[in-house]
Amino acid sequence: MIKAVLIDIEGTTSPISFVKEILFPYSKEKLENFIKENKDKPEVQKILNDIKKEAGKDLTIDEIIQILKNWIDEDKKITPLKEIQGLIWKEGFETGKLKAPVYKDAYDKMIEWKNKGYKLYIYSSGSTTAQKLFFSHTEFGNILDLFSGHFDTKIGSKKDPTSYQKIAQTIGLKPDEILFLSDNPEEIKAAAKAGMKVKRLVREQDAEYMENFPYEQIKSFEEIDL
Ligand SMILES: [Mg+2]
Repeated sequence: MIKAVLIDIEGTTSPISFVKEILFPYSKEKLENFIKENKDKPEVQKILNDIKKEAGKDLTIDEIIQILKNWIDEDKKITPLKEIQGLIWKEGFETGKLKAPVYKDAYDKMIEWKNKGYKLYIYSSGSTTAQKLFFSHTEFGNILDLFSGHFDTKIGSKKDPTSYQKIAQTIGLKPDEILFLSDNPEEIKAAAKAGMKVKRLVREQDAEYMENFPYEQIKSFEEIDL
């Protein structure tokens, strides 16, 4: 019997395009003003110093801004870039300039499940801090209360069955009492291998239906009956 639902974000509760089409351009557009306005704050100071270390030389503020813009364009996974983007997005969400999109079918079902007594958990590669920021500022308002807990890759890779076993242990349920929802076929296979029930989301704008995929594939949360 299912007692909890473990849910991915991108491609599952929300469109994949949000990060690429909204968040990244937003951080690039705000970068210059954000750094110039906040450069004396200790947390920003530290990031700016890390960027100089990364570049291996002293840099002016304008040079730093240019380097960061290049890194965004090149989609570099560099820690100080991630950190400064995190601060810019935080400000964007908190001032209402950014709103996190959540598919209506996902929102409706999650409310229904919560009301019926199922526990809901998030497992995403975005940090738990970023997840909480996201669900506190959605198009439906602050929906953080829906969730009983959050997991990120600190518990392990989403493609490793061990991660799902650890999550089940942490939640205090058997893996087969948990339904895992994701658009990613590798994640679905890993969760199934760990013993969880699984359904793969194939939303029109996010993913493609796979022939011969061994697990159920659905277009929206509406198709799920717990
Ligand atoms: Mg996903």
